[in-house]
Amino acid sequence: MGGSKRIALVAHDNKKAELIEWAVYNKDALARHRLYGTGTTGKMLEQALHQSISKFLSGPLGGDQQIGSRISEGKIDVLIFFWDPMEAQPHDPDIKALLRLGVAWNIPIAMDRATADFLLTSPLMYQDYEIILPDYSQYVKRVLKQNQ
Ligand code: PGA
Repeated sequence: MGGSKRIALVAHDNKKAELIEWAVYNKDALARHRLYGTGTTGKMLEQALHQSISKFLSGPLGGDQQIGSRISEGKIDVLIFFWDPMEAQPHDPDIKALLRLGVAWNIPIAMDRATADFLLTSPLMYQDYEIILPDYSQYVKRVLKQNQ
C-alpha cells in the first residue's frame, strides 16, 4: 500500500457521534487519505469533514459486505470500525464477516477510539508498506484437489 491510504470508516448508530467527533478532530490527517464509508456513516462524515467520501450501501443493507469484498480485492488499506459493544445488531453475521476478512488479509483495523488514535498517528500511514500475507496457496490447492 502506498503513502496515501484508502480508509474505510464505519460506525454503529450509538457510536456515530464518537466517530464523527474523532474524524473532525483528525480532519487534516484524514484529508491526506482517500475515504470510504457505509451509507449513513459516510454521509455524516462527508457533511462534517467537507471531504468527499465514497459511500457504499448502509451497513445492514450490505455495506459491510461491500467493504469486506473490497478488502479481499486489495482495494481498502485500513478499516476504522466503531462497533457497538452494548447493543445487538441485526446484521451481526455481516459484521463478523467484515472483521474476519480484515484479519484474513492482514489490514490494520481500529475498533475503538484509542486504537484509531494510535493508528492515524503512525508514520506508516504516510509510507509505502508491504502487507505480509499468510501463505494461502496450500489452502487454495487443497480446494482445487477436492474439485478434481
Ligand atoms: P451505516 O452502517 O453507516 O449505514 O449506519 C453502519 C453499520 O454497519 O451498521
